[in-house]
Amino acid sequence: MLGEGILKGLAETAKNFAGSYFSKERLTTVQYPEERIPQIENSRVFPFLVYDGEDWQAGLRCVACQICEKECPPKCIYIEKSEDKKPDYVGKPQHYPSRFDIDVSVCMSCQICVEVCPFEAIKMDTEFELATTDRFGGLLHDRKQLAKSNEYYHRIHPTEAAEVDARLAEEKAKVEAKAKAAAEAAAAKAAAAAAKPAAAKPAGGGE
Ligand code: SF4
Ligand code: SF4
Repeated sequence: MLGEGILKGLAETAKNFAGSYFSKERLTTVQYPEERIPQIENSRVFPFLVYDGEDWQAGLRCVACQICEKECPPKCIYIEKSEDKKPDYVGKPQHYPSRFDIDVSVCMSCQICVEVCPFEAIKMDTEFELATTDRFGGLLHDRKQLAKSNEYYHRIHPTEAAEVDARLAEEKAKVEAKAKAAAEAAAAKAAAAAAKPAAAKPAGGGE
């Protein structure tokens, strides 16, 4: 029947409107800001930078590869790569961002930066109370404002953060196993080289 969908929708709205006077479940709004609806795990607002450990500067996962900066459709990420290096999560020396800004007045929350990051360094935040009277500087978030701990990531996106931790732990174990195998091979080679001259010496010592 023509308009059947519209009628069904109106009936549902009327049911919720009348029901909301008797049942809290039918209320679709709350008295914000005194009351807040808990955010669902997949909600996303703007990106943040994940760090491990206590020190945000030492623990930033970002290696300033600038892939996210290149791929961001509205070009609202600004990165400057450090001159020096610091160890990453597997101990490999890597550059870090001496500057990492995101202009959240331009960001469209598309999550492409998150998808392209090979280092699990940038994730989507659920924080939305970012209003400011400073249209320019107030909405240009620097690396200190963007840095949030892995514990925070676990609090807002527990399932995703656990998957990321498992993936990083697996990669770390692989790197450590490879380094151990290389060290064992080097030690075996050195031992074989040390044994050779002794084996080559004639019996009886004879000059
Ligand atoms: S969410 Fe999208 S628009 Fe925002 S910084 Fe990331 S890539 Fe750019
Ligand atoms: S957030 Fe990821 S993709 Fe962006 S610069 Fe850092 S490591 Fe590279």
